[in-house]
Amino acid sequence: MSEIPLSIWHPFTQDALEPAPVFVERAEGVYLYTAEGRRLIDAISSWWVNLHGHAHPLIAGAIADQARKLEQVIFAGFTHAPAEELAAGLRKVLPAPLGHIFFSDDGSTAVEVALKMAVQFWWNQGNRNKRKFVALEHAYHGDTAGAMSVGEDSSFVAAFDSMRFAVHRVPSAYCFRCPVGKTRATCKIDCVEPLEQLLEHRHGEIAAVIVEPLLQAAGGMIVHPVEFLQRIRELCTRHNVLLIADEVLTGFGRTGRMFACEHAEVVPDIMCLSKGITGGFLPLGATVCTDTIRRVFRSEDRMRTFFHGHSYTGSPLACAAGIASLKIFESEPVFERIAAIEKIHAERLPALRNHPAVGDVRSIGTVAAIEIETEDAGYLSKLRSFLYGFFLERGVLLRPLGNIIYVLPPYVITASELHYVYDVIQEALNALPALKTARGGGS
Ligand code: PLP
Repeated sequence: MSEIPLSIWHPFTQDALEPAPVFVERAEGVYLYTAEGRRLIDAISSWWVNLHGHAHPLIAGAIADQARKLEQVIFAGFTHAPAEELAAGLRKVLPAPLGHIFFSDDGSTAVEVALKMAVQFWWNQGNRNKRKFVALEHAYHGDTAGAMSVGEDSSFVAAFDSMRFAVHRVPSAYCFRCPVGKTRATCKIDCVEPLEQLLEHRHGEIAAVIVEPLLQAAGGMIVHPVEFLQRIRELCTRHNVLLIADEVLTGFGRTGRMFACEHAEVVPDIMCLSKGITGGFLPLGATVCTDTIRRVFRSEDRMRTFFHGHSYTGSPLACAAGIASLKIFESEPVFERIAAIEKIHAERLPALRNHPAVGDVRSIGTVAAIEIETEDAGYLSKLRSFLYGFFLERGVLLRPLGNIIYVLPPYVITASELHYVYDVIQEALNALPALKTARGGGS
C-alpha cells in the first residue's frame, strides 16, 4: 500500500508558485533567526501581532509561570486570576463605556462574537428585523464565515460566495482613489453620504455598522480621515444602529494611540480586540461592549443567554501573556518607541512619494504604506512575488499586499534597523521591472 505523505498546508500560500517556507528556529527582539543561519528583520510584526519584540522575557516568563499553576479550565461557570486581572487591566486602558469583556480565540472569533452580539442585542428586545450589517468597501475582518461576509468581495473570498450572508456595502474613505471623485483638500467627507442615505431609509433592519477604525489593513493599509469615523459614529447614534469597531489590528498602540478610535474621540458600542492583546505571544480574542448591550442579555429567561463559547475561551496562558504585555506598556517607554517610528515614517515617506513608480504613501502611527501604481493593482499583482523575494534576500520580512508595500514593525525596532528597511524599499522601487504605471512611465 503506498503511503500518503503528510504535509503542512500553509495559509495564503501557493506551493506551485512560491519558494518553500522559511524555517525559523528562534526569534528575539525584531529578528527572526532561520535554520539556515540567516537573520531577518520582522518588519510586519509576524502578521501584525508582535508589539514589544519577539521572546520578550517578561511575557515568556509570565506564560511559563502560569503554565505551572493553571494551564486551562472551562470558562463557562468558572473563572481564574489571569482572566480577572487582564479584564481589570483592559478596563484601565479602554474607553470608559466599554466595560464588559467577552473572551474568544483570535481576531476572526472576536468579530464573529461582535456580529452575533449585535444581532442578539436587538433580538433579545423583541426586534427580529434589525439583523443586517453595513460594512465598508475594502474591509477585512477575518476568515470565518461571518467575518468573510462583512469583508470586501475580494479574491480572498471569491470561492466562498455561497457561504457569505448579504450585507449593505458602503464606500470607504480611500482618499487616494476617492470613491466620489473628490480631493481631500476640498471634500467634506462626501463619501459618507451613501451610508447616511442607507441608515435614513433602512435603519429599521440594520443591527450594526462594522468598521476598521481609521486604518483598513488587509484592504491596502488605507488610512481614513478622523472625520470619516466621527461621521459614522454620529449617523449610527442618530439612527439607533450599533457601531462595531474592529480594532484587532489597530489596538494596543499600533496607530499611535492605545486604540485608533481615540484619534477621533469616538467610542463604539462594541470593540473587537486580538493580535497585540497578548503582545503577539498567544492567540486571544476579546469583544468588549457597553453596559447598554450587556444589560439586554441579563435575564431570567434562558433564551436571552449569549450561546457562544469556544473550548479555549479565556485561556489562562493567553491572559497571562496579555497582563504581562500591559505591564510592559507601564514599565518600558512604549509610546516613545511608537513616536520614534512615526518620526522615521514621516522623514522617509516624502522621498518615496516622489518616486516615479509610487502613486501614494500614507501612514498612521507605526504603520506606513507605499502604493505602487501599476496596471495590475490589487492583491494578486505580479509585483508582489518580485518584491517579497527581493526583501527576503536582503534580510527583511515585508509581505506586500499586492502592489502595496507596508511597514508595520514591532515597537522595539531601532532607528538604524527601520532606516535599513526603508533603504531596501527604496532599492526595490529602483529595481522594479519596467512598469506600465497609470502615469504612463516605467521605473
Ligand atoms: N480584523 C482585522 C482588522 C484584521 O486585520 C484581522 C487579521 O488580519 C482579523 C480581524 C482576523 O484576525 P485573525 O487572523 O486573528 O483571525
